[in-house]
Amino acid sequence: MSRHAKVLIIGSGPAGYTAAVYAARALLDPVLIQGLQPGGQLTITTEVENWPGETMVMGPDLMVKMEAQARHVGTEIITDIVTKVDLSQRPFVLETDSGQGWTADTIVIATGAQARWLGLPNETKFRGFGVSACATCDGFFFRGKEVAVVGGGNTAVEEAMFLTKFASKVHLIHRRGELRADKTNQARLLENPKVQMHWHAEVTDVQGQDAPLKVQGITLADTRDGSTRQLPVDGLFIAIGHVPATSLFAGQLNMDEEGYILTVPDSTATSVAGVFAAGDVKDKLYRQAVTAAGMGCMAALEAERFLAHG
Ligand SMILES: Cc1cc2nc3c(=O)[nH]c(=O)nc-3n(C[C@H](O)[C@H](O)[C@H](O)COP(=O)(O)OP(=O)(O)OC[C@H]3O[C@@H](n4cnc5c(N)ncnc54)[C@H](O)[C@@H]3O)c2cc1C
Repeated sequence: MSRHAKVLIIGSGPAGYTAAVYAARALLDPVLIQGLQPGGQLTITTEVENWPGETMVMGPDLMVKMEAQARHVGTEIITDIVTKVDLSQRPFVLETDSGQGWTADTIVIATGAQARWLGLPNETKFRGFGVSACATCDGFFFRGKEVAVVGGGNTAVEEAMFLTKFASKVHLIHRRGELRADKTNQARLLENPKVQMHWHAEVTDVQGQDAPLKVQGITLADTRDGSTRQLPVDGLFIAIGHVPATSLFAGQLNMDEEGYILTVPDSTATSVAGVFAAGDVKDKLYRQAVTAAGMGCMAALEAERFLAHG
């Protein structure tokens, strides 16, 4: 039999759990469906040094604490995956992987995004130990070290520029002979003495030591003749884009060309009244735990107002 929630939160990253805390403390009895990755993206990293109040916390530990807090204030947490959503009916109708049906008066979408990875043989092993998809998050750990950035768009160029603040040298690896990033960004990058370009090159693997795990170099292949060479670096930043988890809502909510959910400015309200979107699923600019949590708070407060006033 289908169950009903006044506030149904999809996703268990910082946005989802924060929305849950606020909705539970507003006595709205929220239900949170965790999805395939309970705890979200921070569960695949190691040290987090930019979460307020914690000098250093391991990503998975932080998410265990957020889950405990959401439960403590009264959130019902469900281990399941939402497989279908119908936003054309009131209440909204949802189906899950376990077969449990749900109806909801309001929905908070906090399904996040996933960084695109290269799929290198040793990439997963070194994720969080020198392989990263977030310079803002991890740049600080590479003070005085050499790093490589992979990509050719604005994100790669911005990540590389940001990393020049910390690293002694930043190698930008790009498959082609020119960047896709806009010209002003490119000019700034190319004139930075810390940046070395590697044109027509792709990373084919990453190497390092085991105990403790630590990146020590990458293999580069020339895209024109296939010849390979080693580049010693302490970090590898992969900046080839993110994919928002929004396929469930395709055709039902307004999204941008990359599939990020569009919301009203200064709000988490989507194009369907009563449906709110928070965190990386609607934000391709900041992509931080603290901003995702902030949007989760906004979404719960907006859901509360919607339930009170329609
Ligand atoms: C390696 C790495 C290191 C990082 N380090 C930092 C850092 O140091 N500091 C920082 O501030 N940020 C860091 N970030 C970024 C940060 O993790 C994200 O900005 C943040 O997690 C976004 O939170 P979110 O709640 O929007 O979504 P996410 O954390 O992406 O969570 C999405 C949630 O949605 C769920 N979900 C998806 N689809 C469904 C579905 N169909 N049904 C139910 N649930 C679903 C998933 O299971 C998951 O729980 C890092 C990211 C990565 C990848």
